[in-house]
Amino acid sequence: MKLLITNGHLIDPTENQNSGKNLLIEDGRVAAWIGQNESAPEDAEVFDASGMIVAPGFIDLHVHLREPGQEHKETIASGCAAAAAGGWTSVCPMPNTQPINDNAAITRYMIEQAERAGLANVFPVGAITKESSGSELAEMGEMKAAGAVAVSDDGRPVPNAGMMRRAMQYAKDFDLPVVDHCEDKSLSSGGVMHEGKLSLLLGLKGMPALAEEIDAVRDIILAKETGAHIHIAHISTKGAIEAVRRAKNEGINVTCEVTPHHFTLIDSAVEGYDTNTKMSPPLRSEEHLEAIIEAIKDGTIDAIATDHAPHHADEKALEYDSAPFGITGLETAIGLAFSELVHKGIVDLVRLVELCSTNPAKIFRLKERGTLKAGSIADITILDPQLEWTYKNSDSKSKSRNTPFDNRNFTGAAVATIVGGKIVYRRELKENDL
Ligand SMILES: [Zn+2]
Repeated sequence: MKLLITNGHLIDPTENQNSGKNLLIEDGRVAAWIGQNESAPEDAEVFDASGMIVAPGFIDLHVHLREPGQEHKETIASGCAAAAAGGWTSVCPMPNTQPINDNAAITRYMIEQAERAGLANVFPVGAITKESSGSELAEMGEMKAAGAVAVSDDGRPVPNAGMMRRAMQYAKDFDLPVVDHCEDKSLSSGGVMHEGKLSLLLGLKGMPALAEEIDAVRDIILAKETGAHIHIAHISTKGAIEAVRRAKNEGINVTCEVTPHHFTLIDSAVEGYDTNTKMSPPLRSEEHLEAIIEAIKDGTIDAIATDHAPHHADEKALEYDSAPFGITGLETAIGLAFSELVHKGIVDLVRLVELCSTNPAKIFRLKERGTLKAGSIADITILDPQLEWTYKNSDSKSKSRNTPFDNRNFTGAAVATIVGGKIVYRRELKENDL
């Protein structure tokens, strides 16, 4: 089976490639790059990518797929469908399923469900501690052998520094990055939005920026001491960003990701008490947004990850204090990245590909991904930077609809997603394209 992607603009930061090239895919792998005036095999299926960017497949380091246990919110199949429609060829689900993914059997189950769906690669993140309870280390080696690519207790961050130190030593033995949701709950617990002027005005309990910064600083110190690789999830505060910048300058093995909602929105979005603005970490104030933009520009932030967190409409229909944290994000992320970063001149297209593909592959050591080098696995995202479109929740492939971005207009979209050489998503022109 051959697929020839013609007339596209090929961007592959791993090969310093940024110009027009045709791409030949054979048996699920990149077979060759062919000059656009050179002859190409005639027995290949042709995908005309005129006016489009052809990039190594986008990899989302942080999603919640809810299976096993909460299939009314999302299944691995529906989450993978949303991923493909959003331009993501691979997603890395967090372990907070029911039961928690703290063992090889669940890790394996998640991968098998994804293979059955055949829409995106799933690289699970295993738990750091059993049941993410913070008291006993999980079997990291067995989870890694089953296909886990990192460990995290995500929303239930390890509260105890001694336990986190042992976890880092253990994870390092297995060359597993420790994904770190930085939140000292003794400072943030009970909070529902960013602590500041606005939380006072709205009468909602705040989560101080300090809660993130303190945990980030603690874990950077532990990473320095243990030599483990920590990857700070959904970084959202100026203080944590400054800590990461200092740590990188010191040569400490730390990377970090940002979500599209944190580089787009601030806490003023909470004013209407729409529970689709409630997430953890919360939307911060202007000074934090500015720090995030600066860190995207200067390379302190390594990756864009969605933190796709589906919830059923009934659950989000509660009052603000009681509604669960999190929003969906797989199908709006690339639109937001184009509209808020590329078209505002914050990043160029090469850096966008680094943030969404090359760097995520490196951070989770995903071999033969995040590159279009000949011989690598043919995971490819095809982008139209100029496509004007409107996101409609009713079109979503996710089982959930909890996003603040319904009806938002975007310029720029993923128009096709190829996984292992197979076209798993191709955007049709929609009524609501502008
Ligand atoms: Zn988290």
